[in-house]
Amino acid sequence: MEIPLTVADHLARAELVYGDRIGVVDEPDQTAPPMPDLTYRQFAEAARGLAAGLDGLGLDHGARVAMVSQNAARMLVFLFGTSAFGRVGVPVNFRLNADEVQYIVDHSGAEVLLMDPELVDTLGDVAVGQRFLLGEESDALIVDDPDPRPWTPDEDATATINYTSGTTARPKGVEMTHRNLWLNAAVFGWQTGVSDRDVYLHTLPMFHCNGWGMPYAMTAMGGQHIVLRKVDGPEILRRVEDHGVTLLCGAPAVIAAVLDAAADWNGDIPGAGTMRIVVAGAPPPTRTIERVETELGWEFIQIYGLTETAPLVTMNRCRAEWDDHTPAERAVLLSRAGAPALGVTLATSPDGELLTRTNHVLKSYWEQPEATAEALADGWFHTGDGAVIDEANYASITDRKKDVIISGGENVSSIEVEDVLFSHPSVGEVAVIGVPDDKWGETIKALVVLAQGETVEEQALIDHCRDQLAHFKCPTSVEFRDELARTATGKLQKFKLRSPYWEGMDRQVN
Ligand code: AMP
Repeated sequence: MEIPLTVADHLARAELVYGDRIGVVDEPDQTAPPMPDLTYRQFAEAARGLAAGLDGLGLDHGARVAMVSQNAARMLVFLFGTSAFGRVGVPVNFRLNADEVQYIVDHSGAEVLLMDPELVDTLGDVAVGQRFLLGEESDALIVDDPDPRPWTPDEDATATINYTSGTTARPKGVEMTHRNLWLNAAVFGWQTGVSDRDVYLHTLPMFHCNGWGMPYAMTAMGGQHIVLRKVDGPEILRRVEDHGVTLLCGAPAVIAAVLDAAADWNGDIPGAGTMRIVVAGAPPPTRTIERVETELGWEFIQIYGLTETAPLVTMNRCRAEWDDHTPAERAVLLSRAGAPALGVTLATSPDGELLTRTNHVLKSYWEQPEATAEALADGWFHTGDGAVIDEANYASITDRKKDVIISGGENVSSIEVEDVLFSHPSVGEVAVIGVPDDKWGETIKALVVLAQGETVEEQALIDHCRDQLAHFKCPTSVEFRDELARTATGKLQKFKLRSPYWEGMDRQVN
C-alpha cells in the first residue's frame, strides 16, 4: 500500500486522537483580538473553515495564498487551511518592507494576502487580488460547519513556497512538497523526542521555513502550541513557567536573550531539568552552550539546515557516551552542527562546500529553473556553506561560500544591499560583508569607495538603505576606503575584505 504523505495527516491525527485537548494558545498581547484557546477539534474545524472560505473566493487547488504576520494562532490555521486542502501557503517575513512583500506577492502569484493589522502602516499599499486583515476580516472568511472542496492528496504537490534571500538580489521561492514537509517533521520530531506531553513555545518565526516544521510535528503528536509574538527574554521565561513549556527553537540570539533574563530572574529557572532548546542559524559559541546547561538547566540541541532542506540536515544532541563528561566538555562536542539526520547523506566538494542528499531537499525554486538546476547539480543539493566533517561523521560549519550574511537568524543577500548602496550618487564602489556581532551573531558592514568628487556621511548611506530595505538588512556601519581588493578579473575578493574583522576566530561564521 502506498498512501500519499500530506500535511493533512498531521491535523487529522490530532483531531482524531486528541480532539478535546487544548492544542493552541494564542498570543494574548496583539492588535487583533486573540483567538480563544483552541482544542484540536476546533483547530481542525478552523482550518477546514478557512479552506471552505477560500473555495468561496473561487480559488483553485494549487492557488497561492500569502500571509504576512508575526506569530499568531491564525498563522497555524493558515499553514493547515491552505496546504492540507490543496492550496499553496506563502508565509512571508513580517520584517520586509512594502516593495519586498510586493515582489513576493507578484512573483508567487498569490491571489489572497492575509495581513496582521499592525503591519498596515508599512504594508498597507501592497497590491493583491484580495486582502484580509487578521481578526474580524480573516475570521469572517472562516466558514461555519464547513465542507471544503475535496482535494486528491498528492505528496509531490507544492505545499508551501518560502522566500529566502540568497545569492541573487531578489529572494528565491523555495517550493516545498508535502513529502518534504512530512519527512522533515517526522525525522525532526523523532530525533528531538516530540511526544504528546510536549508544550512547544513558538519563539521561532512561523514564516521561517514554516517554523522549521515543528507546527506539523507537534500537531501530529498532540503537543500544545503556545504562540509567542515577540522574542523577549523575561517573557520567554514567564511563558515557560506559566504553560510548562518543554521545547523551543531559535537562533543563537534567542538563547542570549534567555541567558540575560535568567541572570535577573528571582527563584528557580523555569524548565530546569525538563526544557530542551533547539538552535540553528549560526554556530553558537561553546561558552553559550555550556551556560544553557549550567545556568538554565536546559538541554541544548543544535541542528543545521536551510529553508531549501525543510530544514533538517544534521542534528547534534547529547548522546549516552557523553553523559559522564563535564558540561564544558559536552559543550565542545555540541558546538558542531551535528551528525546527519535519518535519511540524510553528507559530503564535501573539493573546495569544502557541504553537499547533501535527503528527502527534505526542495523540489525547485518557484519559476527559476536555472537556479534550481544549479542548486541541485550532480544529484546533490549545494548548501553554499563551507564545512568540515570529522572522523565521527559530525559536520561543523566553518565558512560561507555564498554571498549571504546571517544576522539574528535571518538571511541577508549582500548583493541586494550593494545594489541599494550603488543607487546612491556618492557611491563609486561598494562591498557589503558580515562582521561578528555579540547580539546578532553577524551584522552588516558596507565598505565604500566614494565616487569622484563626492562626499557623504556614514549615517546618510545607512538612512538611504533604511528607506529602501527592511531594517534588518541595512548596514550598521560604513567604512570609507580608497580602493577594494579585487581579483585580476575585477571580482571583489570578499574573503580578503572580511578577514581583518574575523581575525583570531576559528570559524568564519558567527
Ligand atoms: P535559512 O535558509 O534562512 O534557514 O538559512 C540557512 C543558513 O543558515 C545555512 O545555509 C547556514 O549558513 C546557516 N546555518 C543554519 N544552521 C546553522 C548551524 N547550526 N551552524 C552554522 N550555520 C548554520
